Amino acid sequence: MTMTKDGIWEERWHPLREEWVIVAAHRQDRPWSGETVTRAAPAPPPYAPDCYLCPGNARISGARNPAYTETFVFDNDHPCVGPLAPDPLAPPPAPYRNRPARGIARVVCYSPTHNTTLAEMSVEEIDRLFRVWQEEYRDLGSRPEVSHVLIFENKGEVVGVSNPHPHCQIYATNFIFTYIERELRAGERYRADTGRVLFHDVIAAEQADGRRILAEQDSAIAFVPYFARYAYEVFVAPKATYPSIAAMPDAERRELAATLKRVLVQYDNLWKLSFPYVMALHQAPTASDVDARGFHFHIELHPPLRKPNLLKYLAGPEIGGGSFLSDTQPEAKAAELRATPEMHFKTAAAVSNPEGPESGRDA
Ligand SMILES: [Zn+2]
Repeated sequence: MTMTKDGIWEERWHPLREEWVIVAAHRQDRPWSGETVTRAAPAPPPYAPDCYLCPGNARISGARNPAYTETFVFDNDHPCVGPLAPDPLAPPPAPYRNRPARGIARVVCYSPTHNTTLAEMSVEEIDRLFRVWQEEYRDLGSRPEVSHVLIFENKGEVVGVSNPHPHCQIYATNFIFTYIERELRAGERYRADTGRVLFHDVIAAEQADGRRILAEQDSAIAFVPYFARYAYEVFVAPKATYPSIAAMPDAERRELAATLKRVLVQYDNLWKLSFPYVMALHQAPTASDVDARGFHFHIELHPPLRKPNLLKYLAGPEIGGGSFLSDTQPEAKAAELRATPEMHFKTAAAVSNPEGPESGRDA
């Protein structure tokens, strides 16, 4: 890897979050004696009798999952927001304020197969999941008490997920999550100042540079953003502006699925392990008083690993000061991902050894 002087001592502006990111790539190789992440435990089976997400199994609430064959959506048995929040709440003394945490929390199982991650699903299967996300955004977003629909996946034990059954969560809330609200304002202000969509100009800048682009189709693009906060942070976006995935035409939605699939395979192939991440759909709030013309729906992936066994710890700068210190140069991390093979490593192993225990399902 050739390290230019870029990203050694540099601050980069994050236009969506409207904050500086400190790039200190020379710190990547500093000595480390803290916690490391060991390689994952043995591969999980396709069906787990004790999994509360597998078809036909009982959940903690006592409800039993149907024998579903594609995706499966249910209301979270342990929601952090709920329709039954007490209202009114007892008010706290000034200057404090409170309000009920009202909303709906759902879980979406990607497939009945306990051990098939999103990266290993086919483009058609990912696109089918996208259609479910469209339906959920429309259904939940149309409710008057819902201001925003957050769809996200936490993947991997290092981000706190103990159940490997691939699934995401949906929080439809009576408030707008902070990052989305900030992004909405940044887009509004940019549009007022320039007449343009901020995210269009981000995409144009990435295309003009080219070094950080990981995948591209006619209508979709994936890149490590110039201002990445995490080493392998990736944005996956339609090139045209839509407020949410629900507004996307079918053909573009499918190209977005193919682009996301490409990135997830790059992730897994990087170190030949199931790559952990936090993935979030950035969608415009559904509150009726929101002007979303400057908001550009996209997917953000935030992986916690800097190296196969090394976590990015949030510490003084991030938790104490609220600004990110990135230990890596976005151009170098994008180059690593771009250099990975096209075929998922499990599929490649199955192709070269059809009798072997590892079998992928796609090409
Ligand atoms: Zn399962």
